[in-house]
Amino acid sequence: RYSTAAAVSSTTTTVTSTTTTPAGHGAIAHGDPSFLESVDIYFDKAAAIASTTPDILAQIKACNNILKVQFPLKCANGTVELIEGYRAQHSHHRLPVKGGIRMAPNVDADETMALAALMTFKCAVVDVPFGGAKGGIKIDPTKYSMNEKEAIIRRYTSELVRKNFIGPSIDVPAPDYGTGPQEMAWIKDTFEHLQPNDINGSACVTGKPLEEGGIDGRTEATGLGVFFCLREFLNDETLVARLGMTKGIKGKTFIVQGFGNVGRHTVDYIHGAGGKIIAIAEADGGLVDESGDGLDIPAVKAYHKKKGTITGFPGAKTMKFAPSILELPCDVLIPAALESQIHSGNAGNIKAKIVAEAANGPVTPLAETILEDNDVVILPDLLLNAGGVTVSYFEWLKNLNHIHFGRMSKRMEERGKRVLIDALENEFGNGHRFSDTVRSQVVKGNTEVDFVWSGLEETMLSSWECVKKIAEERKCNFRTAAYLIAIERIATCYRVSGIFP
Ligand code: GLU
Repeated sequence: RYSTAAAVSSTTTTVTSTTTTPAGHGAIAHGDPSFLESVDIYFDKAAAIASTTPDILAQIKACNNILKVQFPLKCANGTVELIEGYRAQHSHHRLPVKGGIRMAPNVDADETMALAALMTFKCAVVDVPFGGAKGGIKIDPTKYSMNEKEAIIRRYTSELVRKNFIGPSIDVPAPDYGTGPQEMAWIKDTFEHLQPNDINGSACVTGKPLEEGGIDGRTEATGLGVFFCLREFLNDETLVARLGMTKGIKGKTFIVQGFGNVGRHTVDYIHGAGGKIIAIAEADGGLVDESGDGLDIPAVKAYHKKKGTITGFPGAKTMKFAPSILELPCDVLIPAALESQIHSGNAGNIKAKIVAEAANGPVTPLAETILEDNDVVILPDLLLNAGGVTVSYFEWLKNLNHIHFGRMSKRMEERGKRVLIDALENEFGNGHRFSDTVRSQVVKGNTEVDFVWSGLEETMLSSWECVKKIAEERKCNFRTAAYLIAIERIATCYRVSGIFP
């Protein structure tokens, strides 16, 4: 084991002198470690077998900066409320640092630092050249009007600008739990007002609406990345045979926790590939399929869009107490909400064969041990949900280049399509020819989303192959393999760059 006592002189800048609050919510009640401790435990497990030195491991593990801000909000009813926010920058081995901003009542310094660390490792696993960061604003966004939320986001952004915690080459936020394209548009607009000479200002944040410099396909990217990895795992005959399963997504049963941006799109792709979504758990209740065919996901999505909740959906049974949904029998359980949702208190009741971590940190280390003792395979967050930041990288590149992809002549576009169709037909074997309908559907055309999704697929597949290979070679689980890949890539970077000054 390496010793943290060998830590190099600290590079930590505590921008605030305010003491950090104790770990907020999570699985402490069950005797599990806090979320931040959990990330450290997973890191230490891989660090113990990583080929690098103790001083470099200590550098990688430490969170470099944590900013705490507190500012007043003039509420619609005339009162003034104090709002608390954070931005943690975990690692600067690559710049800018990158990671979402969440709005949730349980946000605190420890949670933000844990999430920032996960961003560092996640980016390294998919070879996206960013350091890790994360932000949080401690509010329940459903309790604030649009105007109030806009004021909160704009003031938070101005605090980041004043403290040099945002910028296309410094630190680039994105959506996370409780935020989306609208919040990102406010961040961009505020930044550009405060930094009018920055020609790359629009690259200060990703996950923006399309008309504000966003990229087509970013909204679906995390869910699509989860789908690509799951598809690869389920198509691997050796791996599924170990679980006593047959190959493929078709006919398999899935349960998802969370119907937000990640969960919603993940199940949409699974449903499209013939998987059966048999239950969905949300904070205010869940749905359980009674038809035996799986939930009609497009119909659930339409209902959710209209009503703002999945509960009461007419085509399924509504369950008031959603946590028990995670314990129903299924092939794959997909936690796509918050951290520490599978803990020592419920892990023993999980009946899924595979837990696919679409959320950040949904399984505590104690729960991981229980699940693995019961032969459950865990597909780790570092790989599984990295599709979001991968497409954020494409958006950032697009903004820096001041372009949009897909500006190509019709003639070249047709030629590109023909080349692709030929290649696909060859894959199907000699003499195969797609019908004209299929040929016209092979690609949408030379649109931005085609570039984005093919880049995402390539990234997820090659990263999965790498994680699988390392897990086999080092005889460890997929999570430790992903941490090992991240640690060794970042270690190389620190070693080659040396220490400033
Ligand atoms: N919040 C997302 C995550 O946890 C996306 C981060 C980004 O795109 O920078 O990975």
